[in-house]
Amino acid sequence: MHLLDPSPEPLTAWLKEHGYPAFRAGQIRKWLFENRAGGFADMTDLPKKLREELAADWMLWTSKVVRHQTAPDGTEKLLLQLADGGRIECVLLRDGDRRSICISTQVGCAMGCVFCASGLDGVDRNLTSGEIIEQMLLLQRLLPSEERLSHIVVMGMGEPLANLDHLLPALDVACSDTGLGISHRRITISTVGLPVPLDRLTALGTAYQLAVSLHAPSDELRTQIVPTNKSTGLADILSAADRYFAASGRRLTFEYVLLAEINDRPEHAHQLAELLQGRTMLLNVIPYNPVAGLPYKTPSGNAINRFRDILIAGGINVKFRQRKGSEIEAACGQLRRSTPVASPEVAKSPA
Ligand code: SAH
Repeated sequence: MHLLDPSPEPLTAWLKEHGYPAFRAGQIRKWLFENRAGGFADMTDLPKKLREELAADWMLWTSKVVRHQTAPDGTEKLLLQLADGGRIECVLLRDGDRRSICISTQVGCAMGCVFCASGLDGVDRNLTSGEIIEQMLLLQRLLPSEERLSHIVVMGMGEPLANLDHLLPALDVACSDTGLGISHRRITISTVGLPVPLDRLTALGTAYQLAVSLHAPSDELRTQIVPTNKSTGLADILSAADRYFAASGRRLTFEYVLLAEINDRPEHAHQLAELLQGRTMLLNVIPYNPVAGLPYKTPSGNAINRFRDILIAGGINVKFRQRKGSEIEAACGQLRRSTPVASPEVAKSPA
């Protein structure tokens, strides 16, 4: 049994069965989320016998840290090997006072965006809620004890809206006061744009920030670089995003990976400004981060400025995403199941 599985019933039932009072569950939770325990032995205010019994019946960490890398800008990336051998990556980002984590939701990705490393080998499976929470806690343990996680971006490997059933319980824990206590406003779900599960999120009344990966101003171009667009289409995605905005009141974010000579021309910027007109939103432009083996190029500074100037003149609220962690391939679109080159810095699992 995985202790980080968010449904509380199994632990409560187990404690009862073993003759322990229910309040022990709260103590254990506090050890995990607040005190950042590395193992049962750390939980020093629990009776020794309980700690031993817990260790016999429960797993705390189901994944192993296979590699831990740190970039000069303070970004840290963990390559995790899951219990079944699957591999995922997750990232800790430092920016001023912000301590953000970028987490994965699937082993691989089925969306097939042509410029992204995560989907190069397709998808194996969805992560469990416990595996998603485990990433949060392993990354939190990289911080000194006086620092707290402030933001979560669900922008790692995988398509979050394809695994909502496991993502939402994990995010509930992230938001809960007895979990990580991070406000909904500071949690962003990034999606390729799947209208049906997006409407489900709207109907649930969630207040997370939503980021929709647009990448092209026309269906013709978008279908070339984001293959799922063939069945969804821009119009349906935009109207589903508008419904989410109407229900949640959260300003929408649209993401646009800028690929040299593909979607960075002046006419693309003009079309984009027209397409997004009239919305309360932020356009986050991400100059392409190179992925080994892919033929795409990052636009020149001139092309980037030209693109930005047209959007600003068109009244679009635009920001360029600062590249972080690219030295360790931890930047957007660079996360993959494993990295071909072995690194000497192998970190130990905390367990
Ligand atoms: N599947 C989700 C979340 C993962 S990707 C989504 O599509 O939104 C997070 C962001 O990084 C997306 O906007 C994605 O398009 C972008 N991205 C992917 N590959 C990239 C690359 N090589 N350079 C820059 N951004 C990239």
